Amino acid sequence: MKAIAVVPGRPGSIHLREAPSPRIDDIPGERGVLVKVLRVGVDGTDKEINAAEYGAPPAGDDYLILGHESFGRVERVALGVRGFAPGDHVVATVRRPGSSLYDRIGLQDMTTDDVYFERGINLRHGYLAEYYADDEDFLVKVPAELRNVGVLLEPASVAEKAIGQAWEIQRRLKVWSPRRAAVLGAGTLGLLASLFLRLRGMEVVTLGLTLPPYRNADLLAEIGVPYFSTRQRSLTEVAAQHGPFDYILEGTGYSPLVFEAMQALGKNGVLAMVSISGGDRRVEVPSDHINQGFVLGNKVAFGSVNASRADFERGVADFAQAELAYPGWLEKLLTHPIRGLESYAQLMETLTEAKNAIKVYCEVAPLD
Ligand code: BGC
Ligand code: ZN
Repeated sequence: MKAIAVVPGRPGSIHLREAPSPRIDDIPGERGVLVKVLRVGVDGTDKEINAAEYGAPPAGDDYLILGHESFGRVERVALGVRGFAPGDHVVATVRRPGSSLYDRIGLQDMTTDDVYFERGINLRHGYLAEYYADDEDFLVKVPAELRNVGVLLEPASVAEKAIGQAWEIQRRLKVWSPRRAAVLGAGTLGLLASLFLRLRGMEVVTLGLTLPPYRNADLLAEIGVPYFSTRQRSLTEVAAQHGPFDYILEGTGYSPLVFEAMQALGKNGVLAMVSISGGDRRVEVPSDHINQGFVLGNKVAFGSVNASRADFERGVADFAQAELAYPGWLEKLLTHPIRGLESYAQLMETLTEAKNAIKVYCEVAPLD
């Protein structure tokens, strides 16, 4: 079959290649599901893997099939498969179990192992191919009615985890009823997080670098979320008007913002950090002030990576609610479709160059 791959360690190595077609018997225990890939989204992680900043092939291969944001349709199932049938639409989770206790209970997103296995990222092939096979445990069913937006479910799962974990943490407060949230970053992740917080009934403000007019700001306005460019107003200034915030999600990739967010966080508030900041930036921070604010205000900050099966399932449920509350809104995030695996060069170029892109994705096969 055809697949889009990179040679990890070699910058700009994205290419189309022939790869072995997966079969349901590749999966042990009669639990295999063969999925025809329909769409695969790409993001900064794919850009950085193609730039050879990280990424590793599975043992025995010198190439890595790219793509971790999948959407597809079940083609065949092994005899032992209970939850899926041919024709079902599915999204696959990304991380695969290692050996820690968390991995053994299906929470490999919480692994304490040093090595982690992620399809399309680290040590496991991804989904930018005609087919993939996997254990049914790693697939999540998507109603056919959501197939037009199903490719957004993986980034949605990352946002759901960063929100769901905060709600879990805040059970410490017995009566937490959050009202105000700030989302830092207005790309796909920030837009989806803003949506999910609105669906939970919160007042949300979202901040990003880009100055309006900005398509993402207009989309946020449609769901009742004001947008601010940090080139015009700092988070501290926005917090003075719209805060103090009960919940802040930091997802810009600009790590110094974390420390400003710690100060913009209200008493008993919770800050979720999801930026993967690969550099080695250093900043001076008002440490006494931040520390005292955390102590006297009983605040929490936590990190969140990847997502569990339950986070994908919550994403599916929230997508269904979003289609009722804001019909057609999700689909507007799908700004840059690129047709066919053979257009891999255009896919990567659009991902790196397109100024007004929200989600760039490959249409591997037609939805219907
Ligand atoms: C993916 C996550 C993954 C993370 C770290 C992100 O782009 O969406 O699933 O855990 O990269 O590799
Ligand atoms: Zn990603």
